[in-house]
Amino acid sequence: MRQLALFTLAFAAGASPALAAEAERETFGSLPDGGEVPAIVLTNEAGMKVRVLAYGALIQELSVPGSDGAVDVVLGYDGIEGYLEAPNYFGVSVGRYANRIANGRFMLDGATYELAQNDGPNALHGGVRGFDKHLWTIADVRSGADEASVTLTYTSPDGEEGYPGTLEVSATYTLTESNELRIDYRATTDKPTIVNLTNHSYFNLAGASSGVSILDAVLTIPAESYTPVDETLIPTGGFTPVQGTAFDFRAPKRIGNGIRGGSDVQLRYGRGYDHNWVVSSAPVNGTQLLARLEDPGSGRVMEILSNQPGIQFYSGNFLDATVSGKDGTIYRQGDALCLEPQIFPDTPNKPEFGSARLDPGEVYENRIVYRFSLNAADDAD
Ligand code: BGC
Repeated sequence: MRQLALFTLAFAAGASPALAAEAERETFGSLPDGGEVPAIVLTNEAGMKVRVLAYGALIQELSVPGSDGAVDVVLGYDGIEGYLEAPNYFGVSVGRYANRIANGRFMLDGATYELAQNDGPNALHGGVRGFDKHLWTIADVRSGADEASVTLTYTSPDGEEGYPGTLEVSATYTLTESNELRIDYRATTDKPTIVNLTNHSYFNLAGASSGVSILDAVLTIPAESYTPVDETLIPTGGFTPVQGTAFDFRAPKRIGNGIRGGSDVQLRYGRGYDHNWVVSSAPVNGTQLLARLEDPGSGRVMEILSNQPGIQFYSGNFLDATVSGKDGTIYRQGDALCLEPQIFPDTPNKPEFGSARLDPGEVYENRIVYRFSLNAADDAD
């Protein structure tokens, strides 16, 4: 008996135990300058598969098991050309400042910084060529018994897209055997700057090419308030209680139940939901639940946790059937939604929202956890 125990121990500590979660390198086509686009495919024994491209540090595929088998639950393209020609922010890492900055302008330590106004009068998602449109470096790749990961890095030069300070950014994607996909965004700077990094995946838990509307998905956001916007989607300031509005997702609710919400001008400004929910007033230590999404048909459930205080829920309102994605599927309104953990939009111009400032010596972090599971019961309103 004792001998068996010793043998088992020696085996467990052996030099080359079987690796359950694996990370494999691939090439995903090449850029117009001929440079190859490396990709890493993470797989686990539980049946999940994630393909991360070095271009935009983006998620190109995310296959998740359900009662209908494993299906790809994110929008994207089959080839690199799609990402170059009609980016749409499918699956990308967004920075240096995700979401909007009013009039493309902010002040820091008395200086005014001017950004590209690439969304009406406002700056959106880091500018004309944000982090989503650069080739990142694959810095580390790991396989292991419990998880596999890839770390990508990008150096944003001082003044790039108008932002001050050289920003050293990393994104680590980790797939675990318990069906969690984790993204750890980190950044440091050599001058005071502003940072807001997030991932911009478009999810449809019934499958990206299923044709099932996300209006039938069931969403929960444990937030008491949200940040209402003007017609250019800039927060007007302050927090508005969700109580009694179409923005109340504190209990599980079918998305379609509120989206045509009568006279709510907010839903007209956003052409649906395109707003930030306030889960906490500031980032938290550890992580907190920001959203739970369920596809009643397949039973697929995704919980999103993060240390960030806000979550932008964008119901894919600008998907207008002008692009064909994976499998030749034409993407239309209702095909997918984004849930983006982040600091509140336009924080650099809204002191009451807190601070998006990063100083030399500090480390910016956004840890995002997408936790997948299966649920047979439909518990929506
Ligand atoms: C924004 C939308 C925008 C979309 C672009 C979202 O994060 O909230 O307004 O159209 O990104 O993909």
